[in-house]
Amino acid sequence: MTAFARNPDVAIVGAGVAGLSAAQSLKTAGLQPLVLEAANHTGGRCVTDTRTFSVPFDRGCSWLHSAAINPLARLAEQNCKTIHKTPWTWSRVMAKGQDLTHSQVAEYRRYQQAMWREINRQGTQPTDKVIADILPDGLWKDTARHSIAQMLSADADMTSAKDTFNYSDAEGDWMVEGGLGCFLQSLHREVEVCCNSPVTEVDYTGKRVKVTTPSGTIEADHVILTVSAAVLTAGHIRFVPGLPIEKRTAAENLPNGLLNKIGIEFAPAWHGASEGEMMDYHSGDTEFCSICFGMFGSGLATGFVAGRFADQLEKDGPEAATEYCLEALRAFFGNTITKHICKTDETAWRKNPFTIGSYSYAKPGHSDARMTLAEPIQEKIFFAGEATSSEAYSTVHGAFLSGRASAEAILKLQS
Ligand SMILES: Cc1cc2nc3c(=O)[nH]c(=O)nc-3n(C[C@H](O)[C@H](O)[C@H](O)COP(=O)(O)OP(=O)(O)OC[C@H]3O[C@@H](n4cnc5c(N)ncnc54)[C@H](O)[C@@H]3O)c2cc1C
Repeated sequence: MTAFARNPDVAIVGAGVAGLSAAQSLKTAGLQPLVLEAANHTGGRCVTDTRTFSVPFDRGCSWLHSAAINPLARLAEQNCKTIHKTPWTWSRVMAKGQDLTHSQVAEYRRYQQAMWREINRQGTQPTDKVIADILPDGLWKDTARHSIAQMLSADADMTSAKDTFNYSDAEGDWMVEGGLGCFLQSLHREVEVCCNSPVTEVDYTGKRVKVTTPSGTIEADHVILTVSAAVLTAGHIRFVPGLPIEKRTAAENLPNGLLNKIGIEFAPAWHGASEGEMMDYHSGDTEFCSICFGMFGSGLATGFVAGRFADQLEKDGPEAATEYCLEALRAFFGNTITKHICKTDETAWRKNPFTIGSYSYAKPGHSDARMTLAEPIQEKIFFAGEATSSEAYSTVHGAFLSGRASAEAILKLQS
């Protein structure tokens, strides 16, 4: 018994941006893809919540990073009425009770720039280094290092300088009005997706690949797997035969870190901070959050907690991350600030069984695991998703390009 009307040419596991872009490319070339998605919605980690607040809240990705070289930024220019290009920078920083002066905030910013320059410089060396071991000395070292977890989703003592160097960075962090999740969904509106269809088994023993879900089994010439490396490692999908050891090792060396977001909506009358303003709050050696104000020029602020601290807050239970951001806001604006807050909500990406964390980081010494993970098996199973991108991992455009690359590799086999 199967709920699926037909066998596709290509089965795609996961309707995140990688799966959707792969399906779109195959469809445009005349093939019949079928996208199987475990969750009840498409988009995966690129999802806009339009219900909770009076403005859209991107629960996963918000920014089109490296806009100058980002293909999705080009599509946004063609398809979106309003793009928010305001650069984000620190307006205030609080470090262990000390409210930094204007000139100290400028020093903090300069230290951050020097820190990333040094990480990238060390990333060119033949031997990979643990980021925590190569941070330049300076007054702001112990506070600014928290930004590493915000960017890479894991703390400085867990992350690789070479992987950071491999990332292609460029000017511009853009937001699209209406939310990035909604934008990506509209770009892929013609792709058919079977939601609530978790793939439990991929059997590639025969000429065609058998893909099993609780609603039935389909057969396809090729499969594109786009699930996060953490989902692959968790063993939610059984492979027959089992995945080669090098593939399993690669996935284990690209664990998902954690970045959680806290939406905080202010009453319209509150004008304490505006679009582009960012405030960092460090209350201890490991406790840290950043808050970005005026998302889409509105009263919505977004708090960010990352790394081990974010995992601890998720374990502490619902509202723990929100409470920490409220503590930061009270420190910046005084206790009466809470009177101006209408609504809050927070994400819990580690508990999400379909992602198990926010995005991948390479363990030190394992930046080449991304290439190994991206390698197809026997021209039957192809791998896409942010973790497979060596230059744009952890981003929505990296996922998008990886999906396209898998589709192109399959199309090449057909020609
Ligand atoms: C909090 C947060 C903030 C971020 N901020 C940014 C940002 O500002 N800019 C940026 O560029 N990137 C950002 N990212 C990263 C970006 O969202 C991801 O890199 C990208 O969306 C990943 O897409 P993907 O297709 O590789 O994976 P996913 O989106 O995870 O897609 C995989 C899909 O597979 C599904 N799936 C899992 N298991 C199964 C199964 N057994 N069967 C079928 N389907 C399954 C999942 O439900 C999911 O839909 C952020 C991520 C998070 C979490």
